[in-house]
Amino acid sequence: MADATVSCLFCRIIRGEVPARKIREDEHVFAFEDINPQAPTHVLVVPKKHVAGLKEAQSEDAELIGRCQLAAAEIARERKIEHGYRTVLNVGPGAGQSVFHLHVHLLGGRHLSWPPG
Ligand code: 5GP
Ligand code: ZN
Repeated sequence: MADATVSCLFCRIIRGEVPARKIREDEHVFAFEDINPQAPTHVLVVPKKHVAGLKEAQSEDAELIGRCQLAAAEIARERKIEHGYRTVLNVGPGAGQSVFHLHVHLLGGRHLSWPPG
């Protein structure tokens, strides 16, 4: 079976094969600026482990998903956007998922309407 990580865009960014504006990384999580920002802050937080998306995640990935959310919260604190920000996981093409490596969007720095489109 082909190794999904070889061609996966976000695995390639994590490995440094594709340039990105990195914000932080630790043993488990990598965060970088979205190339097409939808808000003044638009950061992507991804697990270093390749997981295709939320619906492919297993119970063993629970801690990693939590780490991504908490990294987003820390970045929001650093950016001083705690008045209102959103973390978003698009799940499946019908919800706009276009990269199949699980990622949390951190959006903030402007008013965010509800419900999202
Ligand atoms: P999705 O649509 O899958 O929820 O989110 C994928 C996100 O990845 C999009 O917001 C898109 O702008 C971003 N993106 C796609 N290609 C690249 C890239 O090469 N570099 C960076 N930094 N972001 C990307
Ligand atoms: Zn990947």
